[in-house]
Parts: sequence; structure tokens; C-alpha cells
Amino acid sequence: MLLDLLLPRICPVCGRILLRGERYLCLQCLSEIPLTYFWTWPGNPAEERFSGRVDFVHASSLFYYRDESPYKNMIHYFKYKGRKKLGAYLGELLGEKLLQSGNYVDIDMIVPVPLHPLKRWKRGYNQSLIVATEIGKVLRKEVCSSVLIRKRYTRTQTKKDVMQREINVSGAFRIRSAYMLKGRHVLLVDDVLTTGATLGACALEILKIEGCRVSFATLAFAE
Ligand SMILES: [Zn+2]
Repeated sequence: MLLDLLLPRICPVCGRILLRGERYLCLQCLSEIPLTYFWTWPGNPAEERFSGRVDFVHASSLFYYRDESPYKNMIHYFKYKGRKKLGAYLGELLGEKLLQSGNYVDIDMIVPVPLHPLKRWKRGYNQSLIVATEIGKVLRKEVCSSVLIRKRYTRTQTKKDVMQREINVSGAFRIRSAYMLKGRHVLLVDDVLTTGATLGACALEILKIEGCRVSFATLAFAE
């Protein structure tokens, strides 16, 4: 947006004007990101959210996301205020953590959680695709956003409880070109892991394909 060019750039976390050399966050907020270290932690809380519900290999998130935390603003700016470069930057950071852990080397393909075309049109972009693209660059893996599609428009899930979310998204996704996924280890990517209902529903579709395995990665882990 033109306004972004005219107004001073601010740190989405603390609101301070960014100095020269500070790109998307101020250096202090960057150094204090509440990282989860899930990528080095088997049985981490992200994995706990999926265990018993869906078969998966690994699950990781980059940082903790608490309701009262100013770090929540990073997701807000990325999703609702057009800060695509901030999201891409965080995606790159996540990709680097996954790479360094050595646990994600056998991923074959990266698939972002799709938005319904109407929501994609309203927002102008799919935030999950931006994150997936950056992870793909770091891991040097193919990103495929056309194999999974969202066939039902679901309302924003922020206020719904776990059970309602499950019902809301069950059957909302469909596979296209299943042959492209056959026998692959797929990394499913989303912006936030809350209950895991959305990623879980995507995984269930992918796991119907012969020989497929699934891992999960998100920027934020909602506590
Ligand atoms: Zn800051």
C-alpha cells in the first residue's frame, strides 16, 4: 500500500519506529522472540495436540503465541494488515530451524493449508503459502499449493471451542492430483497452530493416499 511507503515503519511487537538496519522487527524484539525449540524436542506440545487424532511424523512451531503477548501482533500484521514480508521473514526463520534440527530432511513436498478462493480473494494472499514458500527455499523442497483445495467456506474460528472447530472443518478439504502425493512425506504448513483441527483435517485427506506420511509446521503455537 502507498501508505506503507509514506509512514515510518514500526516494529509490530513494541510499536517503536524501526531504525536503519532493522528490517521487520526491532533488534530487541527479534532477540526476545519466545521460540519454542519444538524442532529439537520429540513429543513436544505441538505433537501432543495431534497425538491420538492423526498419524504424523513430526510437528513444530516457531514461537509461542499468547493472548496477552505483543508477539501476537506479528501474526495479526501478517494476516490482516498485509505485512507479507514479515510473514516471509518468519517463515525463513522457521525453515532454518527445521533444517538445523535434521529432523525434516526426508520431507518430499511442502503443502500450505489452502484458503477458500473467496477468502483468498478478500485477503489478497494466502498467508500459509507465503510461509510454505520460504520453508521450501530453505529446505530446498518443492512447494505445491494446488494439490489440496478448500471446498467449503468456513468462518473465522477464533471464538470457537475445540469440538466446534473439528465439526467446522471436517470434510472441508479435498485432494486434487493424488498421484503427485503418492508415497511422499508431506510437510503441511499453516500460520498458527491452535487446536490442530484445520491441519488435522488436511492430514486426514492426504493420509488417504497410498504411502503418504505427514508432518506439520506453523509459525505460531497458540497456548
Ligand atoms: Zn520492537
